[in-house]
Amino acid sequence: MPAATVQSLLREDSPVPAGALDPADAEWLLAHVLGRSRSWLYAHRDDPIDAVDADRFRALLARRAAGEPVAYLTGRRGFWSFDLRVTPDTLIPRPETELLVELALTRLPAATDLHLADLGTGSGAIALALAHERRRARVIAVDVSVGALEVARANAVDLGLANVEFRQGDWLAPLAGERFDLIASNPPYIAEGDPHLDDLRHEPAPALSSGRDGLDAIRSIVREAPAHLRPGGWLLLEHGWDQGDAVRDILAAAGFAEVMTDRDLEGRDRVTSGRRPV
Ligand code: GLN
Repeated sequence: MPAATVQSLLREDSPVPAGALDPADAEWLLAHVLGRSRSWLYAHRDDPIDAVDADRFRALLARRAAGEPVAYLTGRRGFWSFDLRVTPDTLIPRPETELLVELALTRLPAATDLHLADLGTGSGAIALALAHERRRARVIAVDVSVGALEVARANAVDLGLANVEFRQGDWLAPLAGERFDLIASNPPYIAEGDPHLDDLRHEPAPALSSGRDGLDAIRSIVREAPAHLRPGGWLLLEHGWDQGDAVRDILAAAGFAEVMTDRDLEGRDRVTSGRRPV
């Protein structure tokens, strides 16, 4: 049998029926196995691939075809300007969450000493982006999952970000006695039993769903947050496309001012923010 090449692996040798997965997924997986970029593949279509790498690629492709996300198979996912480590202990960061980071930055003056918190940090996506864009800020990243915190810490080390501190615990519990200029969170917000959870079955359940209407985590965060915000401090919460009204009501009932919802690139309600009155 002739040696496999980049082209033959991506096209002819594939054990997965055509159309069963996105061709880009196969490219990500082959690039990962070879330790190369996807663009390298385009310039090396006819390069021979040794049998060990070809087998590793085919094994990953079969797992992808069975539903495992590419990010867990390669252990990486792009977020903001970073290439973050992810594992099945962490949610895979989503592009929508970059909107939350952008909205936070518009509320954070540069070149001032800020105290920021990210609740349920997962891979560290939000905390690391804020720490990177506001070098003088001190960011506390909280997660209940020890496994997630290990991944987030490794990401901070890779990125050389020393202004992030990691703490284990439930939402605001590890922040006793501290007050922040801004608290951000992309908490679990899917309702228990929602059929979408099946598509997300490889991701950690506690990072995804929260109570019968999906709003339990948001309610606890909003209840505790005012005691941890400086006067004029902001709370920013990511949520589902159909939860904007409910989250605004929860924030308003807790006494937050300037409550508003921003929409993602697809025009869906995605991030609601409110401010502790001065
Ligand atoms: N903060 C992380 C992210 O935005 C994890 C969120 C979560 O686990 N719900 O990707």
